[in-house]
Amino acid sequence: MVKPNDLNAFWMPFTANRQFKSAPRMFVAADGMYYTTAEGREVLDGTAGLWCCNAGHKRPRIVEAVQAQVAELDYAPAFQMGHPKAFELANRLIGMAPDHMAHVFYTNSGSESVETALKLALAYHRAKGDGARTRLIGRERGYHGVNFGGISVGGIVNNRKVFGSLLTGVDHLPHTHLPDHNAFTRGQPEHGAHLADEIERIAALHGPETIAAVIVEPVAGSTGVLIPPKGYLERLRELCTKHGILLIFDEVITGFGRLGSAFAADHFDVKPDIMVTAKGLTNGVIPMGAVMVTPEIHDAFMHGPENLIELFHGYTYSGNPIAAAAGLATLETYREEGLFERAAELAPYWEDMLHGLKDCRHVIDIRNIGLIGAIELQPIAGQPTRRAFQAFLDAYDRGVLIRTTGDIIALSPPLIIEKAQIDRIGETLREVLTALD
Ligand code: PMP
Repeated sequence: MVKPNDLNAFWMPFTANRQFKSAPRMFVAADGMYYTTAEGREVLDGTAGLWCCNAGHKRPRIVEAVQAQVAELDYAPAFQMGHPKAFELANRLIGMAPDHMAHVFYTNSGSESVETALKLALAYHRAKGDGARTRLIGRERGYHGVNFGGISVGGIVNNRKVFGSLLTGVDHLPHTHLPDHNAFTRGQPEHGAHLADEIERIAALHGPETIAAVIVEPVAGSTGVLIPPKGYLERLRELCTKHGILLIFDEVITGFGRLGSAFAADHFDVKPDIMVTAKGLTNGVIPMGAVMVTPEIHDAFMHGPENLIELFHGYTYSGNPIAAAAGLATLETYREEGLFERAAELAPYWEDMLHGLKDCRHVIDIRNIGLIGAIELQPIAGQPTRRAFQAFLDAYDRGVLIRTTGDIIALSPPLIIEKAQIDRIGETLREVLTALD
């Protein structure tokens, strides 16, 4: 058992830290849709871990693949040598991705995938003799991990302000959730596509020939489930193409079935130049990310005229055998069980459950797409986050895991969820919201 002093040795992010230390909440096991707590209670997983366990927990195919791989080949150098599963997985990924994607760069996390994508974008322009394209555009309330590139293009000011200068030449598009136009919208809002036109303003300000790439989460997840208005991503694509700017989709959350298709790029039928993935790639079991690119970007990066071959890029654990085995077993589980299609089928039921909570106390907005949902609560004056965090604690006590960001409850269950479990989440949230101060 964990002793009170053990709790000092590990930093838990955010305000949960203080409450956590007075009442530690520990998971010790997981199976299917449920976690088991240290006290032996079952907790229904309404968040797929951290948006990553899309196939649920302890899936036999994945467990067996990982166990077999550790016993067979634990590690192979990521440079100059290879092992078959890294290639097999890359081929599987390319087979699933939109058809213009041709190559994979492996990483160990979403944050590393973002850094890799930004480097690829800059190197691509440089290799093409377009080295003046160094500016990057992100989005307000965009989340792209915690490394320096990611916090620079990310739209969360708090995550970057203590670090002084970061990547220079970064602008942020306005975020797309306009509460007064968007309240209680089911799926994509009608209005707001014009916000993509902000690119024109940024291009006019600095000169379009200075901009390397735009990075967006197709649906912003961690900052509260902000769903792009109809036509927004299409317009973004159109303007990027017009100005020779690369479009990067950060699909760390939206990838691997969350919207009812392999990637958000399929769901919205918009083709990015670079796709950033992680999380659901290995079902959360082993850290792994993958960045997918077009042949032009790959070739420029690997064989650019400035002899970019001398540029070194890659990680010790890129395409690690155990991660690759987990990835292959995960993709096979998704395919065999038709989980992406299942997510699409369940999405209307999920939407009805969420919007059925519209009349609950303090609820000021509800948003949903695929198997993602958000319930936004009226913050208590002077105590932002307190109300939602209380909802999190109360739901946990009632045996349902939810996640909060600010005063927004974010939900993203494993794609294996049953309708009865969706009902259970809805009933629990109704009880919890009704009891909130
Ligand atoms: N991009 C997005 C869209 C994410 O949601 C996350 C993680 N929540 C990241 C990047 C960073 O991923 P990681 O935590 O694996 O570094």
